Amino acid sequence: MKHLFSKFTYFIFVLTLFTGCSDDDDNPGGDPALTFKEMESDWVRLSLMYDGNIDVMQADSGEIMHKVSGQVIEGARYYTSNTGRYLTVIDRNGGIVKFFDSGIVNHTDHGHEYTAKWVDMELNSILPTHYASSGGHIVIFNDGDGSISYINEAQLEIPSYQPEIFTFANTVAHHGAGFRLRNGLFATTFKNNTEPGGIPQMVKFVEANGNLIDDNKGIEVEGIHGDAVNGQYGVFGSTNGVILVDDQQNIDLIENIGDLNSESGNWLGTLKGHDNAQLFFARSRNVGVFMVDPVNKTLTNIYNGGNVSGDMFSFDGAYYLLHTADNTISVFDSSTGSKITSRVVEMANIPQLNSKELDSEISILRKMEEPSPVLVCSDKFLYVLAPNRIQIKVLEIKSLEHVHTIELFSPINSLMKNGFSIEGDQNPDYEH
Ligand SMILES: [Zn+2]
Repeated sequence: MKHLFSKFTYFIFVLTLFTGCSDDDDNPGGDPALTFKEMESDWVRLSLMYDGNIDVMQADSGEIMHKVSGQVIEGARYYTSNTGRYLTVIDRNGGIVKFFDSGIVNHTDHGHEYTAKWVDMELNSILPTHYASSGGHIVIFNDGDGSISYINEAQLEIPSYQPEIFTFANTVAHHGAGFRLRNGLFATTFKNNTEPGGIPQMVKFVEANGNLIDDNKGIEVEGIHGDAVNGQYGVFGSTNGVILVDDQQNIDLIENIGDLNSESGNWLGTLKGHDNAQLFFARSRNVGVFMVDPVNKTLTNIYNGGNVSGDMFSFDGAYYLLHTADNTISVFDSSTGSKITSRVVEMANIPQLNSKELDSEISILRKMEEPSPVLVCSDKFLYVLAPNRIQIKVLEIKSLEHVHTIELFSPINSLMKNGFSIEGDQNPDYEH
């Protein structure tokens, strides 16, 4: 009821100040502010980070709902959980994983809002690095000893909950990756101890209790980097192609095509997947983006170029967005891989790698898979931190039209997306 009411009062407000909206530079004939406010869900939040603080803003109203001070770790990486409630914070060098609770609880046809806060639990491991999540099951690979941390998102609200760390007898430290499939099995990387360097060569399944199924199904490559999962299928990037696993315990290799090869920069080492998307999207530093079809076991080039800066799915998985170094955003239909639209978008600078870090192939690959600190998606809208860092431009994803600008009170460093979307009004009949 509260949300119906606030939407209604807002509507009156907009009508009263109808002449006030002038922030659209693409669509002067329309009423973009009204369109955005009407179309964006009340439950979408933007978590704004600055000076060690996080402000949780309701996206459609621009209202700061909660302010949470301190505890932001410099240089840590942030990932939004599947329900949108949490941010997982990975401090690789400090060996710490923490969770920020936006207070937005996603019950699909309705939601609840509590006070935003840091979860009173810290997970310690050696060099926690790669993050993957499917169906609310988060897996973080620990480079320092080849172990994986498993976090069940639904349990994070339980004060006594302690995530599990699975360690394996016959592994060594390496820059690996892993995830959980919907059948409850994990898939994670292993290193061939005779191969030099820090990247793994094979993938094995792990049972729900952490027991290793010691069988790579005959698939061994020169090197693996990056992974993605949609519940039924999971993929790992490799020098030789894409390693595909599924919930029937198969492990296959989809071999490189075209200009893809095992030379530096020419293999698929950064991958994206989404629980609502059958297709995966994989990037190579020099030869662009490939669509991975796990059913037909094929690769298809959908963007050819060596200038990709980042990529992501929209929050509900309907769109795949590509960001290139010339600040062009391209939007693809994630169910077909076909391009819908593209346009140049002004955005705040993303800090580049310094020259020392550039020496390492692994550093470059790690940097490539980091989430963008200046671009985030809800289901329908792309939020872009403007170059002045005090405005957030809102673009409708499917058209990339600028529909709204959120004015901030002071500059921010980065933003993350929290919360979720409901189409139309929420179900008022829930009983709890
Ligand atoms: Zn509920």
